[in-house]
Amino acid sequence: MSKKKYVYYFGDGKADGTGKMKDLLGGKGAGLANMVNLKFPVPSGFTITTEACNTYFASKKKYPGGMWDQVLANLKKVEKSMGAKLGDPKNPLLLSVRSGSKFSMPGMMDTVLNLGLNDTTLKALTAKTGNERFALDTYRRLITMFGSTVMGVDRMVFEKVLEAMKKKKGVEEDTDLNVDDLRVLVDKFKVIYRKETGKSFPKDPLQQLKLAINAVFDSWFGDRAVTYRNLNNIAHDLGTGVNVQAMVFGNMGENSGTGVGFTRDPSTGKKKFFAEYLIDAQGEDVVAGIRTPLHINEMKKKVPKAYKELDRIYNKLEKHYKDMQDIEFTVQEGKLYMLQTRVGKRTGAAALKIAIDMVKEGLIDKKEAVMRIDPDQLEQLMHPRIDPNFKYSALAQGLPASPGAAVGKVVFSAQDAEKAASKGEDVILVRPETSPEDIGGMDAAQGILTARGGMTSHAAVVARGMGKCCVAGCTALNIEEKKKSFWVGSTTVKEGDTITLNGTTGEVIIGTVPLVQPEMTGNFNTILKWADEFREMGIRANADTPADARAALKFGAEGIGLVRTEHMFFEGDRIKAFREMILSDDEAGRRKALKKILPMQRSDFAAIFKVMNGKPVTIRLLDPPLHEFLPKTDAELREIARELGVSFKKIKARNTALHEFNPMLGHRGCRLAITYPEIYEMQVQAIIEAACQVAKKGVKAIPEIMIPLIADVKEFTILNEMTVRIATAIEKKNKIKIPYDVGTMIEIARAAFLAHEIAPEADFYSFGTNDLTQTLFGLSRDDAGRFLPYYIEQGIFEVDPFISIDKKGVGALMRLAIDSSRKIKKNMKMGICGEQLDPDSVEFCDEIGLTYVSGSPYRLPVARLAAAQATLKKKGKKKAGSMA
Ligand code: ADP
Ligand code: MG
Ligand code: MG
Repeated sequence: MSKKKYVYYFGDGKADGTGKMKDLLGGKGAGLANMVNLKFPVPSGFTITTEACNTYFASKKKYPGGMWDQVLANLKKVEKSMGAKLGDPKNPLLLSVRSGSKFSMPGMMDTVLNLGLNDTTLKALTAKTGNERFALDTYRRLITMFGSTVMGVDRMVFEKVLEAMKKKKGVEEDTDLNVDDLRVLVDKFKVIYRKETGKSFPKDPLQQLKLAINAVFDSWFGDRAVTYRNLNNIAHDLGTGVNVQAMVFGNMGENSGTGVGFTRDPSTGKKKFFAEYLIDAQGEDVVAGIRTPLHINEMKKKVPKAYKELDRIYNKLEKHYKDMQDIEFTVQEGKLYMLQTRVGKRTGAAALKIAIDMVKEGLIDKKEAVMRIDPDQLEQLMHPRIDPNFKYSALAQGLPASPGAAVGKVVFSAQDAEKAASKGEDVILVRPETSPEDIGGMDAAQGILTARGGMTSHAAVVARGMGKCCVAGCTALNIEEKKKSFWVGSTTVKEGDTITLNGTTGEVIIGTVPLVQPEMTGNFNTILKWADEFREMGIRANADTPADARAALKFGAEGIGLVRTEHMFFEGDRIKAFREMILSDDEAGRRKALKKILPMQRSDFAAIFKVMNGKPVTIRLLDPPLHEFLPKTDAELREIARELGVSFKKIKARNTALHEFNPMLGHRGCRLAITYPEIYEMQVQAIIEAACQVAKKGVKAIPEIMIPLIADVKEFTILNEMTVRIATAIEKKNKIKIPYDVGTMIEIARAAFLAHEIAPEADFYSFGTNDLTQTLFGLSRDDAGRFLPYYIEQGIFEVDPFISIDKKGVGALMRLAIDSSRKIKKNMKMGICGEQLDPDSVEFCDEIGLTYVSGSPYRLPVARLAAAQATLKKKGKKKAGSMA
């Protein structure tokens, strides 16, 4: 028989909730075990490992050998510790069965409470507690939860009957129903159960337990869990643990209750206990947002001793984990029990504040603080908010569940939200409350508005995780789902009407309110400053104008990695001059047109040099295919003909002749300069003259002239010679030395393979990963939209290679180019100027040894943080390696 350990009793041996044990027990199991080790009051129980779950799936849903026996043995221990037995007709033990994987997935997996009740044990529970109301309330909960989570009955079928009962009785809350009402309910629920499942409710508690364990295992591959993992990039092979635990009861009257809390404010990060409490209730009431919970002060008033104990425990937990904790607890007749602790999800702003405060408090160091911030969360802080100068009056006030602001058209279902979003519409998802099935719609919406539920409801937690604006528990909203409308007082809002949400204040506003970009706060800059201390890789921005360059500096750019000169040709009169140039059929004509452009380019470059004073500016010479500049209408062609003094017919013919079947692989980049050198000559002249011009005013220009689309070193040699010849002449004329470099882009696969031939000639490289991806995959970015999404969906490509670098192919080629070049020129400057600046790509660029990354100014904060984390991770690994 297999001796493998599939079941761990809470607190067993070294189940202390770190490292490998967390993988094996899942987050919830590890947290419970750890709290037992810390001697906090936790109802006894045990965890079935994630390994058991994986084996279950690998063996066609059969339990691994020995697992069930281990379950029974551990159940005995629980029974002994609680002094009660599962199914005992006098003294029954009730159980909760809870899922829990390595990463917390709020509401994603299924929980069943109050397991072990049947008609016999119901009587025993009544006799034991002397509280029939409680026993019946517990029973109706079990039938509902077991029916819905284990057997897949729509929970609403039960809820509707409960609502009807409350209406009939004229009461608001479940707690207002009496014993007789509950008895009727239980009977009705049993009938529903039989009708919906075709079986009667299972009497045997062990069978209940088995079915519940299976349901938790199975929920790992349930649609909601799979969607959540896909959205959050969590692996599908981690598996879930199953926690089987003795029940404690928050629904035993006024001295009982249940709550959830965060050890610090998850919205702002303020150091204050942030919790909610429901009197006479079980935990699922809070999490599901069925009742709107009370402020934690109510707990302090009702059960002061339990509150004091909670206060002590949560402070200790935070010190132990050195991080903000998300806790769940229940009070049974005045006594506190801890049911969960895990690292709490938080907004970007809270993440920054908590990390910085904890450094000040001496809990963690700066490195740890930098590692703690999710780079994507930084983006949240760059999200829009309502223009503070704009005066508005709110239609209704809910809870400020997730900060920021959102404007959009109202929709009433997740499906409608997804449909509208796929058409590019901005929508606000309005729901009575959200549930895990709504995840897709929440992701598609700009913001989320719910009528019920608190700050810890599903909607609030998920929205904060997504960095999405959310107003929850807006009780003034009367939602009529069928009519697709809601009303507040005399105002009705229909599907398609526009509203604005203020997630920072909880306000709901009719119409469109202007939004502003947020200022980067002090904490934002503090973390980035710390990140810069650890970061090894340089950070530059792609910027085409002085305004871009200023934004780049503001976001921490140490230089410009890409100035696209062609954008400069589209403005105003320039495009005309440029068209004259390309439509001339001789060099003289071209030179004449280029002369008109020269002063404009020179002043463009001078302006950028001034902003970037002392920092390198990489300027790419003309790159796109000429057709992008060609006139589209005959009227435009006529004007050019007049300007050039040639016939319209001739110009038209030339225009047609310039047509290319595959322009992206056509006459572009350095190929233009090989055929028409005068274009690059003019650009080099403009660059060096601009540098000389600003130098006379004390500005230090550091131009890096970059030649695009090289496929062979010979192209580079010719154009490099040309560049140096022109630059030298201008330097001589001005009697100024400009510290310029000449380099190339690596964006054609052939150039990457032959990089070692180019390296000795060039001062620097920059990987143009957009074109490199296109040429290596043999796909055009502009046409890939028709099939790329299917490739991602079916997992043929792991990521969209235009969003995140394809490490396997493009990345391997980059590595080859770098390694072969560094053999010849160890310290060669090498960067990247594609737009892939996601944390994953940044980490990869650090790994393969790039000197810097460059991208859109607004992505730089994320890149700075990701680069610092890459360095710290690398150093952490090295250290671990040398110790082993
Ligand atoms: P989730 O992962 O969705 O938070 P949980 O497994 O934590 O699910 O269960 C949901 C709720 O059920 C918890 O908030 C808790 O209050 C309640 N609960 C779970 N186990 C017990 C128990 N042993 N006794 C009482 N309540 C419990
Ligand atoms: Mg759950
Ligand atoms: Mg929980």
